[in-house]
Amino acid sequence: IAMYAAKAIPGTASLHYQPEMAGNADLGAELPGAIRDDQLFLLFQPIVALDGDRRVLGAEALVRWAHPAHGTLAPDAFIPVAERTGMIVPLSRWVLRAVLSRMSAWPAGTAVNINISARDLREPDFAETVAGLLAEHGVAPGRVTLEITESMPVEPGESLAVLRDLRDLGVKFALDDFGTGSSTLSLLHDVPVDEVKLDRSFSQAAPDDRLTVAAGVAHLAQAMSLHAVAEGVETEEQAERLRGLGYRAAQGYLFARPMPAADFEAMLPLTSVPA
Ligand code: C2E
Ligand code: MG
Ligand code: MG
Ligand code: MG
Repeated sequence: IAMYAAKAIPGTASLHYQPEMAGNADLGAELPGAIRDDQLFLLFQPIVALDGDRRVLGAEALVRWAHPAHGTLAPDAFIPVAERTGMIVPLSRWVLRAVLSRMSAWPAGTAVNINISARDLREPDFAETVAGLLAEHGVAPGRVTLEITESMPVEPGESLAVLRDLRDLGVKFALDDFGTGSSTLSLLHDVPVDEVKLDRSFSQAAPDDRLTVAAGVAHLAQAMSLHAVAEGVETEEQAERLRGLGYRAAQGYLFARPMPAADFEAMLPLTSVPA
């Protein structure tokens, strides 16, 4: 992984893989090998407090694929195919293991957000897997927020049982891309949620209908005692507007781009950061 990671440029989310370059089917077929050979790596994007000091509260882990032929692939190029083929299950396990092993040395106050797929929740042993990894790496469950987006419906029944098991462990949940069709209000009702992440299309809104949605989500979060995080904040103006609406935390290029773990660790308090 070191060889590939060294070539990767942090924050290259814009280097989107062009599906025309090769069939998506090829990527799907290559994923098992990529996971086995550690071609995946993680970037961490800081999540900061929106008040004056803008201290780092934690980070969101974002996966990349250092593809030997195509270069660094953004998740949009391979997560959908992984969800279709079921490879998302071993991929999520790889991500969970990589994040938890890395954060075990971080200061105890540092939280992490990890994206999972609704598909993971259909695995009856998913909560057990998470519990095992938390214990193995000595990470307190309350430091971990699992982000779900409704790219696939969270199914009633088994998935809800898995969610409750995770909840009983002390793991938290965020609804990602909130405000878009991919995270609906009904999920708020079905899933034991701690956090909503306002989609960047609303974070970036000028005073218009989209900003009204941003305000509505802030009210909803406050009424339901949820942590409200604004995603995709790129300008001071946006940050100030969102702070004014009641958002306490935010993420976006204004504060920091997704970066390698070592760079993120350099932003943390000096105690207990790995050498
Ligand atoms: P997301 O979870 O909503 O993550 C936020 C995305 O917005 C990231 O794109 C991040 O790089 C980008 N971003 C952050 N700040 C800004 C900003 O100020 N402006 C703009 N324009 N973009 C910003 P990325 O890393 O390409 O990830 C895309 C999506 O892929 C994620 O959206 C998430 O849904 C999915 N994903 C990423 N990592 C994983 C993973 O480990 N597992 C799963 N299942 N999905 C993942
Ligand atoms: Mg996310
Ligand atoms: Mg999002
Ligand atoms: Mg998303």
